[in-house]
Amino acid sequence: MPETHPVDAISQRMDLAGIADGLRAASSFLITAHINPDGDAVGSMLAMAHFLRALGKTDIVCVNDDPVPSIYAWLPGAQDVLSSDVKPADLAPDAVILLDAGKKARVGRAAEWFPPTAPLFVLDHHLEEHPDGVRCFVDPSYSATGEILVDLFLTANVPIDKAAAECLYVAIATDTGGFRFSNTKPRTHRYAALLLEAGIDAAQISSRVFEVMSPEKFELLRRVLDRMQREADGRLAYTYITARDMTEVCAKVEDLDGIVNFARNIMGVEVGILFRETDPQTTKVSIRASAPFNAAAFLAAYGGGGHKAAAGATVHAPLNTVRADIIERTIKLLGEGK
Ligand code: AMP
Ligand code: MN
Ligand code: MN
Repeated sequence: MPETHPVDAISQRMDLAGIADGLRAASSFLITAHINPDGDAVGSMLAMAHFLRALGKTDIVCVNDDPVPSIYAWLPGAQDVLSSDVKPADLAPDAVILLDAGKKARVGRAAEWFPPTAPLFVLDHHLEEHPDGVRCFVDPSYSATGEILVDLFLTANVPIDKAAAECLYVAIATDTGGFRFSNTKPRTHRYAALLLEAGIDAAQISSRVFEVMSPEKFELLRRVLDRMQREADGRLAYTYITARDMTEVCAKVEDLDGIVNFARNIMGVEVGILFRETDPQTTKVSIRASAPFNAAAFLAAYGGGGHKAAAGATVHAPLNTVRADIIERTIKLLGEGK
């Protein structure tokens, strides 16, 4: 396909008009997002499917390694997201779209569904210098991939109907913590206003997404809060969850969403960390930080990434080892004013 609107020929970045032209030229699509999809990943996948249908496309498949979390299962189209466990025999997309992640490695087994010949489109807002796609729009100034997609609808002159607006609103509202995080910009509110004008019930969405909590999540929260530790004169707070906790309270991975914020929300805390033992040799680290601490840069050394204020990494070492190492290095960096 010709590069109609290249912005940066080396990383094959382009503007959204170029992305829209590329999508118009294709006829069958595979849409995916990062593993353990959050509201932005799910909302963006579904909004992209709505966008393509509005362009008259009908051959569209959404796939993810992990199920759609139950708090997002009511979104229009959520029931059609396939699990990457079973690949349809006739799947042959001529375009693959990766959302809310810039690297194929963040997709897990779903990446095995990508035909080597199909161009990979990447729309993402994470700090990523070298996204994997051939047609990329990666811009960390956007609060959410959903905010990029609102721009795509506007650029391509595609009307946003109520179903698409619900998906986009969930994407933006969740990644901004309900329009409270520092990534919330005037554009974020302007786009949210457009989504309200499309007829969504924002109060009902907020209740479903931010307020209602599974009993299993509540039980996890009890343990996590009880174990919270503070260091560096209260500038660092951290807690942990073991694999045994998860089994004992029958929690799902989706129940962990937002739990790290309780560490960050303690007054005076600049860095909040949640350590989770996924198995005896693997630890998932989630960091929430305020400037000047750069969580994404810090976790890049552990093979992770994300944003300055919110980042994650999966480290192949036991919980106790990872926790001791990361706490020590964080205290040192805080002491150096970084
Ligand atoms: P989490 O702590 O998992 O909620 O992730 C916080 C942010 O970091 C999100 O934007 C994630 O997409 C990103 N992130 C989490 N884990 C990784 C990883 N292993 N590599 C790159 N980015 C990640
Ligand atoms: Mn995400
Ligand atoms: Mn996101």
